Amino acid sequence: MLDDPDEAVSPDEDEDAATLADLDYPASQRPEFATGRAYQILDEVALRILEIRLALMVVTEEVSLRLDDFYPRLTALELLADQAVGAAGLLLLSAELDDAWGSQPSRPQAVYARHKAAVSRGAPRAFPPASSLWHFNTVLKAVGEPAIGPDFRARPQCPATIRDGSRQCSNGVLYLGGNAFASGCFSHATEAERDRYRQHQDDRTEANVEAGQLQHLALTGLGRKITRDWLRRRHEPGSLYQLINQPDGPFHPE
Ligand SMILES: [Zn+2]
Repeated sequence: MLDDPDEAVSPDEDEDAATLADLDYPASQRPEFATGRAYQILDEVALRILEIRLALMVVTEEVSLRLDDFYPRLTALELLADQAVGAAGLLLLSAELDDAWGSQPSRPQAVYARHKAAVSRGAPRAFPPASSLWHFNTVLKAVGEPAIGPDFRARPQCPATIRDGSRQCSNGVLYLGGNAFASGCFSHATEAERDRYRQHQDDRTEANVEAGQLQHLALTGLGRKITRDWLRRRHEPGSLYQLINQPDGPFHPE
């Protein structure tokens, strides 16, 4: 496991990482690598950005400020952080990469592109583990699903013949909910079926709204927990807040 939370990082591993980074390779030959520690730190960075988004969602209950401007930027940052986690996962697995374009370390997206290029040349595809943010988004989606329920995408073809009689209608029949289908597509169904179809669509819209509300409740609940934790930690010794506010400041040579 790359990101097993119980997996302690041994001091030896730390040393290995330092050694590898400090080795005196010419820049063009420096091996590309990631430590398990770096992978976990980047995964935490993505989670910290998520925490900020959730905290902003609930702080508006206590201050008359509109904070919408944060969200698109935070979403973009979350995406960047998640890409960095995935790219670090590829490096950690020593995935094969096409040559880099320059001597600088590659950006996360370039690591993806270079691995994709290597795979298209026949290298084995590497599968880094899914990030914590990915798991979060998957679980969040599932929170809304009970409200929406499954809907049918694969519908039988409408049996009607088109107006000029030349061939069978190519549309799917209407899905009416509850595993029931209409006798034809919207044009070829009966008026009663069309009414039932409209009702089903309205129910779906309502269910989607309900799912959105369930997700919002889940997010704000988590946001309240996160902000409580922040304020508790703020006053604990060793917190960044405490370090900054101690008489000699936060910077001490180790
Ligand atoms: Zn039809």
